[in-house]
Amino acid sequence: MADTNKANGAALGVDESYSSVMIVVAHPDDAEFSSAGTLARFVEEGFDVTTVVCTSGDKGTDRRDITSSELAELREAEQLESSRRLGVQTTEFLRGGDGELAPNLDLRGKVVRMIRKHRPDIVISHDPFRPYALHPDHRAVGTAAVDAVYPTARDPLYFPEHLEEGFEPHKVAELWLYGSETPDKFIDISATVDKKVEALKAHASQVGTAETLGERIRDRARERGKDQGVEMAESFKVIRLRR
Ligand SMILES: [Zn+2]
Repeated sequence: MADTNKANGAALGVDESYSSVMIVVAHPDDAEFSSAGTLARFVEEGFDVTTVVCTSGDKGTDRRDITSSELAELREAEQLESSRRLGVQTTEFLRGGDGELAPNLDLRGKVVRMIRKHRPDIVISHDPFRPYALHPDHRAVGTAAVDAVYPTARDPLYFPEHLEEGFEPHKVAELWLYGSETPDKFIDISATVDKKVEALKAHASQVGTAETLGERIRDRARERGKDQGVEMAESFKVIRLRR
């Protein structure tokens, strides 16, 4: 008998035992620009999806009429609306300082805690190995995510205080890195690109009135899908960890 509650990983070309995904990003809107079409597809196929946002984007503006705390509050509200539009079930804010993240043990520990709490099969994040990637938060979060999935989240002597909270060690099965120069996983987002654009429009303080946004997003997705036999795609570099 078919289990209608079971996640359908086969539709996305992933192992049928998988049922949950976590994306770990530096700023509000990073998950959507990189991966919203893919996240919407995971949701549609019955996966639990969690978005972890490491800063609340509290400095990324040229406005002089707003404080950092006002900006953070606005961007968290925008992120929650964006997650709602995509159907993402859980959004976590780590509230690090925008532009101030470092790839240190503190950030790694916070990401490990999220992994142990939500227990994803797949973790998606920034590719920290891409040459000349300019935003320090993107490099820091990508590094923290890579170092969190292996070995830190899986072994109990790392951050034992998480175990006291009830969060057990967890083995992530796959790490998907976006922004990679050598992607090897292409997700067909032809049917979810409209959701991607609507999710991005929720980030109004970053994308503005967004009149040309839809075309820009579709053009980029067409470019990614061009050699893959799909109309539109998002792309990732996959690292497999769990057997
Ligand atoms: Zn960003």
